[in-house]
Amino acid sequence: MDLSLSPADLAFRDQVRAFIAANLPADIADTFHQAGRHSFDQMMRWHRILYQKGWVAPHWPVEHGGAGWSVMQQHIFDSEAMAAGAPRLRPFALRMIGPILIHFGNDWQRERFLPPMLSGAEYWCQGFSEPGAGSDLASLSTRAEHDGDDYIVTGQKTWTTTGQHADWMFALVRTDPQADRPQKGISMLLIDMKSPGVTVRPIVTIDGDHHVNDVFLDGVRVPASHLVGQENKGWDYAKFLLAHERVTVANVGQAKAEIGLLKRLAQARGRLDDPVFATSLIDLETDMSALEVTNLRMLSQLGPGGDAGALSSFLKLRGTEIQQRISELAMDLMGPEAAPWQGGNGDARLGPERYGTHGWLFSRAFTVFGGSSEIQKNIVAKQILGL
Ligand SMILES: Cc1cc2nc3c(=O)[nH]c(=O)nc-3n(C[C@H](O)[C@H](O)[C@H](O)COP(=O)(O)OP(=O)(O)OC[C@H]3O[C@@H](n4cnc5c(N)ncnc54)[C@H](O)[C@@H]3O)c2cc1C
Repeated sequence: MDLSLSPADLAFRDQVRAFIAANLPADIADTFHQAGRHSFDQMMRWHRILYQKGWVAPHWPVEHGGAGWSVMQQHIFDSEAMAAGAPRLRPFALRMIGPILIHFGNDWQRERFLPPMLSGAEYWCQGFSEPGAGSDLASLSTRAEHDGDDYIVTGQKTWTTTGQHADWMFALVRTDPQADRPQKGISMLLIDMKSPGVTVRPIVTIDGDHHVNDVFLDGVRVPASHLVGQENKGWDYAKFLLAHERVTVANVGQAKAEIGLLKRLAQARGRLDDPVFATSLIDLETDMSALEVTNLRMLSQLGPGGDAGALSSFLKLRGTEIQQRISELAMDLMGPEAAPWQGGNGDARLGPERYGTHGWLFSRAFTVFGGSSEIQKNIVAKQILGL
């Protein structure tokens, strides 16, 4: 595959660079360059800036507010934005439920929900996993029962990322417990997080932060108009969505930018002369380049509305392994400065957040969320290798 940029792509890259240079707030870029983690507010500020420019959902069709960019243009934008230190926009609305509503929703749902997703006026979370249903998602037990024109939803969702900020949740619920296969009795509902009966309880993860939540649904009334597509077809929509989720979790643009940052930090500390460190870094860069090519190949296959298939599992597997190796090498580079907390009774953080113990601890989750590595290997074995 030819990865060199055409004159049109080069002109597009220059346009993107100029826009980012003029519009990415300095404090947001600094957070990345100091190897920090962007806050939720910084991410939403960047979301709104991109929205004003019409670039917040470049992969959506133009008629629904997208930018109509080619695969190569999306790749260029992603690489340039990440290298400049921009935050990664959260995928839940833009990459998950937005495309689902475009493909499987009805006109009313598209008119009601897509504009505030684009502007950032409404924020979404994903309600799939439950305490007894993670890898085996089809065993989920949250029930939705008919009551007049509504559903009454009762159950528990867990690991709900940024659920504490969410206005809406797209959730998988069981609508037919008698179906002959568990996958057949599942529907997708759009749930207003402000509805009576919704309780969000924080889960503090191993890095000491609040990224995820339990969400309790206790007799929550959901209008039937908030059913996505057809009743009991939710599993089909979920499969479409999960293949897209794996591509975003692979996070190629950001990993590339982080390796660049790691290299600059290593140079500043004289570690590029250390042959062991330098070899690890080169190995990482080489694997990253291979992943980048695979990513582009896959995005080209995808096309508008295409199906990523099992290749998305491969990309998720490799992408998250690379992200973990970045965190490990960063820990090696930072040495004692990677320690998470100041000694004594202070609670001030030491050293860089993403490249310290905090980042390393949270990176353990990369090979779990979006489907664990073992599950991705099962998919690759069955669907690519035919085992
Ligand atoms: C930080 C974080 C954020 C998340 N955000 C969200 C979110 O926003 N929304 C949401 O719905 N979910 C979210 N999740 C949940 C995530 O999708 C699940 O954790 C994941 O699918 C694994 O499910 P589980 O935790 O129940 O583990 P289990 O399914 O219980 O798996 C436990 C272990 O067994 C292995 N295993 C299970 N089945 C098999 C098998 N068939 N073959 C081989 N090995 C197997 C797994 O690989 C894993 O190592 C998040 C998780 C984390 C950690």
